[in-house]
Amino acid sequence: MKRINLQRAKAQIARPTTIRDINKRIVLNYVRDRSPISRAEIARETALHRSTVSVIVDELQNAGLIVEIGSGESTGGRKPTLFELRKGTPVAIGIDLTPRTTTIAAADLAGTILEKETFSTSPDADFMTRQILERVSRLKDRLDVSGIEIGFSVPGLVDQKLGRIYHVPYFDWRDWDICQKLEAATGMRVTVENDANATALAELWFGHEKIRKIDTFVMVLVGEGVGTGIIFDGQVYRGEMGAGGEFGHMIAGSDAPVECSCGSRECWEAYSSDRATVERYKARLKVDDLKQNNMDVGDIVELATNGEKHAVEAVRETAYYLGNGISNLIVGLSPQVVVVSGKMTKAWDQFSDQLYRIYERSVLAGLPQTELIPSSLGDSPTLIGAIGLVLARKFGSVS
Ligand SMILES: [Zn+2]
Repeated sequence: MKRINLQRAKAQIARPTTIRDINKRIVLNYVRDRSPISRAEIARETALHRSTVSVIVDELQNAGLIVEIGSGESTGGRKPTLFELRKGTPVAIGIDLTPRTTTIAAADLAGTILEKETFSTSPDADFMTRQILERVSRLKDRLDVSGIEIGFSVPGLVDQKLGRIYHVPYFDWRDWDICQKLEAATGMRVTVENDANATALAELWFGHEKIRKIDTFVMVLVGEGVGTGIIFDGQVYRGEMGAGGEFGHMIAGSDAPVECSCGSRECWEAYSSDRATVERYKARLKVDDLKQNNMDVGDIVELATNGEKHAVEAVRETAYYLGNGISNLIVGLSPQVVVVSGKMTKAWDQFSDQLYRIYERSVLAGLPQTELIPSSLGDSPTLIGAIGLVLARKFGSVS
């Protein structure tokens, strides 16, 4: 049973409008999951009164969230009208800032990306502010649809509630005020979130069938760094000032192949990130070829899937350290599932046994079994994460 926090109780009291809003979101979620669906089916599934469903369906239609798509089979009387989510109309602009590239994309209510552009990320925060403002404003004018919101994924410390970006360690940006500037310039609402948390939320809402059915899991996002997003009881566990889940900086040793984004060689991230894999691959080649310096982890992962010896070894060594850290997370948090996300997961078959060693330890210790699965969000999990921030607001419960 959850304790009622009296300081926040005033905002949580269920007024009639709150209940209507919750019912509206429940109906919208049924349309998302079970479409094509009729009013009668929604009423049957939700146990809401038929007339309440009709009112809500009208409201959702007027808000442009759902559309009629014809009629279904008659069960005696009139043929029922069927509904589904409105597709092809942009409702979200996702901004995905990563240490190398930044992507801006427009997506519809189903999360389908309608258009996107990618450009290099500069270490100059002011330059990036101008770039993002210009490109988002252009995109907004081109889309010419009202009600669009922005979701922003950032590899750093973020206060999601206040919309503040405190620190982006990779570039040492502090108190970056891009969200306030974006809202002022475009008039659109901006939801910002740490990249691993955004990816975890996207997995919860739009990912694996299995994940959509559970409410406690950990997302391990392997990229230029290593981030973790903890979903506890169906929502992100953020900790004080949104600083929770920074397991990338837990100490994993003292001589990592690369520096962590925080500058240390002791962090789990410095052992388990894509940069560590690239470094391990280069070390195995024993050549300081300039061309190899441009090698991306995607190339190495592809070589590993094709069975190239050095690439397989480099990926497996990274997986060894990744597995150690995941094992610690499981011991401490006992999640139902750990989802691993990032380019590395394309070579899952080449290294997953390194991760499954964890099972043996868990069995020995008599702990509940945690399942390990690769993310279903594809090549750009953080972009889906950014878009998901807006969609989760539209589908999510009132908080
Ligand atoms: Zn660190």
